[in-house]
Amino acid sequence: EGIPFLEDVPFYKGQVKIALRNCGYIDPDAIDAYIARKGYFALVEAIQGRKPKEIIEAVKQSGLRGRGGGGFPAGIKWATCAKHHGDRYIICNADEGDPGAYMDRSILEGDPHSVLEGMLIAAYAIGSSQGYIYVRNEYPLAVKRLITAIKQAEDYGLLGDNIADSDFSFHIKISTGAGAFVCGESTALMASLEGNVGRPRAKYVHTVEKGFRNSPTNLNNVETYANVPAILLKGADWYAGMGTEHSKGTKVFSLVGKVVNTGLVEVPMGISLNDIVFNIGGGVPKKKAFKAVQTGGPSGGCIPERFMKLPVDYQKLAEVGSIMGSGGMIVMDQDTCMVDVARYFLDFLKEESCGQCNPCREGIKQMLDILTDICQGNGKQGDIELLEELGAMVQKFSLCGLGTSAPNPVLTTILYFRDEYEKHIQDKKCPAGVCKALFHY
Ligand code: SF4
Repeated sequence: EGIPFLEDVPFYKGQVKIALRNCGYIDPDAIDAYIARKGYFALVEAIQGRKPKEIIEAVKQSGLRGRGGGGFPAGIKWATCAKHHGDRYIICNADEGDPGAYMDRSILEGDPHSVLEGMLIAAYAIGSSQGYIYVRNEYPLAVKRLITAIKQAEDYGLLGDNIADSDFSFHIKISTGAGAFVCGESTALMASLEGNVGRPRAKYVHTVEKGFRNSPTNLNNVETYANVPAILLKGADWYAGMGTEHSKGTKVFSLVGKVVNTGLVEVPMGISLNDIVFNIGGGVPKKKAFKAVQTGGPSGGCIPERFMKLPVDYQKLAEVGSIMGSGGMIVMDQDTCMVDVARYFLDFLKEESCGQCNPCREGIKQMLDILTDICQGNGKQGDIELLEELGAMVQKFSLCGLGTSAPNPVLTTILYFRDEYEKHIQDKKCPAGVCKALFHY
């Protein structure tokens, strides 16, 4: 269990590794190495001695929530899917697309069997015989490791027909995405998997009832499935004993930006942002002042210093205008221009919007034009209010999560760093000096 001397190193102190428990400790190409660390024990114990309903109950009791961004309770999703009749499907969302985030990639590359085992347990609990892993084509090593892992599990009788000599059979296929960020959205992912254009649809009917091929489908992401074997082995109470009232267990974050120790960190829910950035991350380098931390990738909000004592959980982050997302965490220092940050994320989302609904397609473009003007010294009185108005409209009327969360970086930077916007517009100055080269005057 771990490497003892590392426990005194600040970067590791305070981390609790569950989803990342084997990454870096085992040879990911060797199924025996995974089994030596109790891999596939939870699956075999489940098949041989536990009823599907018990498994679902354990996942419910653990409080595990989907780690892909939505944070929906995994056990409730499993139970709902299991209730619907038809060919049920299990899908693993490995289409990780947030800029700077690589949590899922590291798990797939470092411990692919944990994801397969999580999917197998979900399949046994829900009653499914077919699963798919939808993985980014830009992750060739992850795909290679998955192909090897699937073959090994099949050779060991842990995947395929009559698993562990039971009447439970489950097969997994890999499908690679073509680089569209929006295909990380569940309905777009399923459309893409079916061979259609990867566009989201309205979820009047949930995918657990009618998802892939119009059949009941359970979709979770890589990190969610990787947690499942550990929960079954150590118990729901053990997992639920970590975290806050509404957010249990741990979360993997990709800590990047203006911070001394960059990298993946897995921390118990409820830890403060301060602990992550300053104790684990080592703070801001070169004695520069901390300015903000952005959580939740391009759809998240920028959180200022006064909220750094905030415990990290789904509710608390939402209260300050941000989201947990899939685990992106970008630290910004005094030299970061918050207007330019908002412009950068909106530019990314404008490119990635699928364009099928007006509020997202046109709203994001209009907001980006205004932000670009402000950054180039062409901002006008009333631009801030117009951004707020457009942001509220895009949030309210967009069809999918990409649109509804797109204004977050703009709205939070206006909320917490309004003075920077005002200086750009009124004084034609970028306080951080970032936009200087862009100014025309
Ligand atoms: Fe497409 Fe944006 Fe509408 Fe989502 S909100 S369906 S990404 S246009």
